[in-house]
Amino acid sequence: MTTALRTAAAFDFVPIADEILVGGTWRRATGPAFAVTDPADGETLQIIHQATAEDVDEAVAAGRVAAADPAWRGLLPHERARYLHRIADAIEREASRLALLQSYNTGKTLTETTALVGSAAGTFRYFAAVLETSDDDLTTQRGNYLTMSIHEPIGVIGAIAPWNSPIASDAQKIAPALAAGNAVVLKPAEWTPLVSMALARAIHDTGLPPGLLSVLPGKGSIVGDAIVQHPHVGKVTFTGGTRTGRAVAHAGAEKLMPVSLELGGKSPTIVLDDADIEAAVSGVMYGIFSSTGQSCIAGSRLFVDRSLYEPFMERLVERTRALRIGHGRDPRTQVGPLVHHTHRASVARYVDLARCEGGRVLCGGTAPDDPELAEGAYYLPTVIDGLSNDAAVCQDEIFGPVLIALPFDGESDLLSQANDSVFGLASGIWTRDYRRAWRLARQLEAGTVWVNTYKRFSISTPFGGIKESGLGTEKGRAGIAAYSRQKSVYLGLDDEPDSWAD
Ligand code: NDP
Repeated sequence: MTTALRTAAAFDFVPIADEILVGGTWRRATGPAFAVTDPADGETLQIIHQATAEDVDEAVAAGRVAAADPAWRGLLPHERARYLHRIADAIEREASRLALLQSYNTGKTLTETTALVGSAAGTFRYFAAVLETSDDDLTTQRGNYLTMSIHEPIGVIGAIAPWNSPIASDAQKIAPALAAGNAVVLKPAEWTPLVSMALARAIHDTGLPPGLLSVLPGKGSIVGDAIVQHPHVGKVTFTGGTRTGRAVAHAGAEKLMPVSLELGGKSPTIVLDDADIEAAVSGVMYGIFSSTGQSCIAGSRLFVDRSLYEPFMERLVERTRALRIGHGRDPRTQVGPLVHHTHRASVARYVDLARCEGGRVLCGGTAPDDPELAEGAYYLPTVIDGLSNDAAVCQDEIFGPVLIALPFDGESDLLSQANDSVFGLASGIWTRDYRRAWRLARQLEAGTVWVNTYKRFSISTPFGGIKESGLGTEKGRAGIAAYSRQKSVYLGLDDEPDSWAD
């Protein structure tokens, strides 16, 4: 069943200025014009000029000056925290506009983008609080000196974000980086620059000193590459696909520059034989089909104990068929369009590949036939089984509403299949037995394990992937330290000169 809605007047798209924030001033980017589209109907929302390597140069130069200025670097933690609180206030004031802009540009439901905007504000508040409550260490004395380990800013941080959850991923990079005393040059994804540009405007208007934030929309191969290669960018925080992440890591190795990488996933969701079936079906559906499957942590591989495989799949397919597909601004919509028609073509190719590999498409597997949705980048929630875990669609990240289901026989079979992946981002377990859950959680190769829940996030809990899903963690109290350099200081306490030189 599908529900389509023409855009209500109350939700009209309001273009933002075609200007980028570079070094504290607003001006048109020096690169080519780019049509930013609405995936709900493929129409152009507005034309944005893209940044170039010259814009990156200007942003980094201004960032260096701003980060080194005692007016920023010399701030006491509670003084810098005030800036972060002001940014959170500004995001909250503009919440509905930012959420709408993001819904238009990404196709996501307004419910979801509203939550993402709220989480962005919360991220700034959280890092303000961490900043105020973090201590440097007075390390144990091992001589007649006082030893301290202190954290200092790195300088200019390059932040590169993907298209799936722009404002939340922007905040997760900008907030801790500013809290640590750095300047930030952010590159949003080419397809989804609008909300990041609006966020830049909101942050700028809080009175953040000029140069501390530049936001440069454009192509990864031009703007992203220029940021990564720039000799005065001291760290890059990257969220995106594994292939790009590996290229960023290579460039970082050349410069001996630290990088943090939040990359892709192919996360297993596991249903044990004692699970609460309805709760598990709901959780599995939310894990893969919310955000139209465009989530790095999507539970895209489903493992169900063979003893309940058939009834579980029957219920899952029945409920998946009932999901409401539609326009992101329709409050009834559960599954909006994919981010772009090009991306939908990639998802469709994977489903075709699954068919060629012998997979059974139990539901979905095509675009909806509702004429109201014909122009949008929609794709039906799809469940496939009949494949083994080594099939390409079980190993590759599809990043769409496509769930591959497999039965398992016992814990050892489960673990060998679930861990047979180059990725290690997340996983989920549905069971009433927390001892079993704990045992499995310790053996699953994943940065996050959810038990009887899925895709829940807390800014105070570190997040990161293992294996090819990433390097380093974001969030949590240590989130600020990731944007700092550690320095050790020894204060000599001897009254007499050192006898060595006598
Ligand atoms: P990409 O890796 O294609 O792009 C991510 C960002 O990197 C974009 O801004 C992109 O620009 C830029 N980029 C591309 N090439 C380069 C380059 N040579 N140098 C520097 N930057 C470059 O990923 P997608 O945008 O397709 O995002 C989807 C991916 O992100 C998925 O794999 C998903 O799993 C992952 N992801 C991971 C998360 C996590 O926390 N682990 C969270 C969200 C997503 P451009 O827009 O021009 O392509």
